[in-house]
Amino acid sequence: MTVPDNRALTLPVSPGSGWPGDPATPRTPVAADAGQVRDLAAGAGSLAELVARQSVCRACPRLVEWREHVAAVKRASSRTERYWGRPIPGWGDERPRVGRIFTGDRSGDVLFASLYRCGLAVQPTSTAAGDGQRLIGTRMVAAVRCAPPDNKPSVTERDTCAPWLTAEFGYVAGSVKVIVCLGGFAWQAAWTMLRSAGYALPRPRPAFGHGAEVPLPAPGGPVLLLGCYHPSQQNTFTGRVTPPMLDAVFQRARTVAGLPAPSTQ
Ligand code: SF4
Repeated sequence: MTVPDNRALTLPVSPGSGWPGDPATPRTPVAADAGQVRDLAAGAGSLAELVARQSVCRACPRLVEWREHVAAVKRASSRTERYWGRPIPGWGDERPRVGRIFTGDRSGDVLFASLYRCGLAVQPTSTAAGDGQRLIGTRMVAAVRCAPPDNKPSVTERDTCAPWLTAEFGYVAGSVKVIVCLGGFAWQAAWTMLRSAGYALPRPRPAFGHGAEVPLPAPGGPVLLLGCYHPSQQNTFTGRVTPPMLDAVFQRARTVAGLPAPSTQ
């Protein structure tokens, strides 16, 4: 990876500067390495503070440089838009019945259209912060919160980010009935998250596949792990995953979670 030295442009959105939905303030503590991620995730004290801390994390130098570079380049090519340039914190219902692990952003059009058709989002698009999009009984979290170059985080980056995911799951686990894993990377991250949360897991681990289902016993009632091909540009372009395939998974998730079907009006 080569990142041009354009640091004058590499300015992420400042915490608490008025970005719609920004969970952080200038006083939110910033994790600078893996140990600080573990400490700040474990000691957040509330889901809101955890999400704020996620959103300012700087623990992975390569990903911080990349995300701020991408934000700067996009700003330069589109002066009318601002870019976040910070980690993507967990988002959605605080008492979800469906938890989604989503690691990409270019696939949002396909993903949100499906969620809307399945009654899990209030509108079919998610175009910008403050656009009115809202998830229904559902929470979206990423296994690695900073989009990496070529969508390939290193093992170290994956492990550094994992405590954010585990801590977030701890706040919502009591109400989660279904976990939809978008892609094999999310499937693997889910096992780590569930193991850290004390769930009894099958051995050997079931293989990932589109439509794969693994019922898991949990203190608050069974949780269903559902596999779904990631709606990446490549997967949707090649037809590996289609809108009906996504709809089938999310309709299944909604039914298992006991959420109402969308209105046909
Ligand atoms: S990937 Fe995760 S741990 Fe690494 S900088 Fe981003 S939020 Fe922090």
